[in-house]
Amino acid sequence: MSINQQSYGYGASKSSIREIAAYGAMRKAQIGAQNVFDFSLGNPSVPAPDAVRDSIAHALSLPATALHGYTPANGLPAAREAVAASLNRRFGTAYQADDLYLTCGAAASISIVLNAVCNAGEEVIVIAPYFPEYAVFIQNAGATCVEVMADVKTFQIDVEAVEAAITPRTAAVMIDSPNNPVGSVYARANLQALAAVLEQKSAEYGHAIYLISDEPYREIAYDVEVPWVPDLYDRTIVCYSYSKSLSLPGERIGWVLVPSNNPEHDELVPAIAGAGRKMGFVCAPALFQRVLIDCVDEPTNIEAYARNREALTQGLSAIGYEYIEPQGAFYLWMKALEPDANAFFERAKSYELLPVPSDSFGCTGWVRVGYCVSHQTIVDSMPAWQKLWDSYQR
Ligand code: PLP
Repeated sequence: MSINQQSYGYGASKSSIREIAAYGAMRKAQIGAQNVFDFSLGNPSVPAPDAVRDSIAHALSLPATALHGYTPANGLPAAREAVAASLNRRFGTAYQADDLYLTCGAAASISIVLNAVCNAGEEVIVIAPYFPEYAVFIQNAGATCVEVMADVKTFQIDVEAVEAAITPRTAAVMIDSPNNPVGSVYARANLQALAAVLEQKSAEYGHAIYLISDEPYREIAYDVEVPWVPDLYDRTIVCYSYSKSLSLPGERIGWVLVPSNNPEHDELVPAIAGAGRKMGFVCAPALFQRVLIDCVDEPTNIEAYARNREALTQGLSAIGYEYIEPQGAFYLWMKALEPDANAFFERAKSYELLPVPSDSFGCTGWVRVGYCVSHQTIVDSMPAWQKLWDSYQR
């Protein structure tokens, strides 16, 4: 008998994003925070809205047993009603509280959905480059992660490549728009083309292929449409969290939505509840369920990210760097100055610049520059980006 080797492996090998962030923290302690340009983590630099504090203060006046007590496994009915009503106002839908399952953030939402829809030996397609934890969550659900590279020019979904990767074992395709790590937003036509393929393949193989739409960055988009995916494909399941939109990543609050137009809705809702039960992902933090009742319609403050995006793109393009124009989220996807992104990262590190090499996201030759940092960090980093560039011209 031995401990679970898969779990040991995940715990013993840290995520490279976290390793870079840990290095950044150590380096800041050594040479001063203002001298290290850490673009590694996706931790929002915008504070949570004041309404969140007000809501917490209000909740503290509740009797302690009510405040700290268990809620139903899928969340307080009033919180789920508030979320459903908010979605209905925004998207013209008719969702109900029971279509929602509240979770400890998008990571839990994704894990629950994968465990609800996958059987051992099935496959889940992800669009590379992708959030690296997807592979961990997919393997934990007993499925195989199948990487399909995005269109390398536009970083939109390469629908033909997805079509070619679908097999009779495909249980789901997972997308993330606005996208981490690229900052792209999938256009309506791109999603419609994907929907047409999934419909045709579901019919051909005689079983549902689900579209798992992971959307923690939905509200962070710069003047582009972020289509509501369940309107385009009936078999969509949406995973969401308030980690980015309300800057609450440490509070662990989000949801899964099984839209009412999903043909397997009535089986999926109990399967989601069962997956939550199986994994012990029940009763999301009660205080933040209450915060949702008050704050679900709070606007996301994207001005600071928009300003950072402007400064970063202008500064880097003036130097000569190539990147994908970011349409959403708070990441810039920049071409490394040599084919090996890890080697480029090592050289960037010597100028105290800490982006994340693209190999961590399942593709080579790029880096992710997270601009959820202070504006000053972006401004102050420009001479270092210039020196890094110059070092490649010699
Ligand atoms: N999905 C994507 C694409 C993310 O970028 C993240 C976090 O950075 C998550 C899911 C996990 O979000 P949460 O912190 O809400 O679990």
